[in-house]
Amino acid sequence: MYNDENCHYCDGTGKVKCHECGGDGQVECFWCDGDGEVRCTDCGGSGSESCPSCGGRGTKNCGSCGGSGKDSYDSDEDCSWCHGSGEEDCSECGGSGEVDCSYCYGSGKVECDDCDGRGYVECDKCRGCGEEDCRYCH
Ligand SMILES: [Zn+2]
Ligand SMILES: [Zn+2]
Ligand SMILES: [Zn+2]
Ligand SMILES: [Zn+2]
Ligand SMILES: [Zn+2]
Ligand SMILES: [Zn+2]
Repeated sequence: MYNDENCHYCDGTGKVKCHECGGDGQVECFWCDGDGEVRCTDCGGSGSESCPSCGGRGTKNCGSCGGSGKDSYDSDEDCSWCHGSGEEDCSECGGSGEVDCSYCYGSGKVECDDCDGRGYVECDKCRGCGEEDCRYCH
């Protein structure tokens, strides 16, 4: 390709600034809108998940009476540990029934796979160089 006269649009270089990325060679990541983070699929973005220890109930069978609420097998006395309820607060979640999501550590967000957390990806049109072929020269 040879031009007798320099092309008005590209000064004879054959290249113009990429329209897609404005010459940056990078465009905002479609998946995370440039945040670099996406919603955690494990917890749906809530940051917490059902406590695996108590199944989300917040309580467990009392370890002292095994859930019967009685002091002993054939006793009418209430269990002194759970006061007859047969249940005790789950120590894992403190009785809330929920724990921090183990995947996102409670943030509700995880690094975007598509851009490795940068928020930008290489421009498809110019392959990251920021320039595209001048259409008037071709
Ligand atoms: Zn040109
Ligand atoms: Zn629990
Ligand atoms: Zn008990
Ligand atoms: Zn999560
Ligand atoms: Zn991204
Ligand atoms: Zn580009």
